[in-house]
Amino acid sequence: MHEQLKLLIELQSLDSSILSMDERIEQVPRQISQYKAPLKEATESLQKSKAKYDSLVKKKKDKDLKVDEAQDKINKLKTRSGDIKTNKEFEAHKKEIENFEKSVYKIEDEILAAMEDIETYEKSIKEDEAKVKKAEGELKQIESQLAEEQSKLQGELEISKAKRNDFASRLDKDFLNQYMVTLKRLGDKAVVETKNEICLGCNTNIPPQLYNDIRKSERIYTCFYCKRFLYFIEPAPAEDKPQESPPVS
Ligand SMILES: [Zn+2]
Repeated sequence: MHEQLKLLIELQSLDSSILSMDERIEQVPRQISQYKAPLKEATESLQKSKAKYDSLVKKKKDKDLKVDEAQDKINKLKTRSGDIKTNKEFEAHKKEIENFEKSVYKIEDEILAAMEDIETYEKSIKEDEAKVKKAEGELKQIESQLAEEQSKLQGELEISKAKRNDFASRLDKDFLNQYMVTLKRLGDKAVVETKNEICLGCNTNIPPQLYNDIRKSERIYTCFYCKRFLYFIEPAPAEDKPQESPPVS
């Protein structure tokens, strides 16, 4: 194969791998943000549990206070029992104490329910804290894994870019320019294979004479339609021929 054509093929292969490495490096921050979602979810759930817990504790405190107040009133009423003169007064007095006692029972029931809820949310908080810790650990691990991958890719990218510059410097300037223009115009490949008299870049038929010339590869040819550089790969030897092991380099 023509030396310059080989360089063009190498250049294209490097350009594709540089492009895909660039894309993978760019994806890293997006991947990290994706892994932040479970931590965010766990943190939000923990905040909600804590808020609910705090409001329940406050609710219980208020009710404790109400019980104390009611108890206080009952005690005061009871100390006044001796002052009562008439039966009617006594009945009203007794009724008043009973009402306060009833409200104490009711509030005490509410306090018990609140305590049960508090216990439930204590459990939720513990569970959510464990989830947050787990998500933080996982995120940290992913971040360091991705950072390592990114720096490895960055290193490979530098090597590929250096190789690319080397190939580009060995290419004829006109070929390099034409390669760059075609690549920019078509956005994918500027060097393609020909097979069965067809350009595999645009699927256009190649005239037989041109096809033969491409096979000979004494010069560089482009597709008259899409302007991509064309190369030909000799088909693999027939099946009946024993396969030779490749030479050890
Ligand atoms: Zn073509």
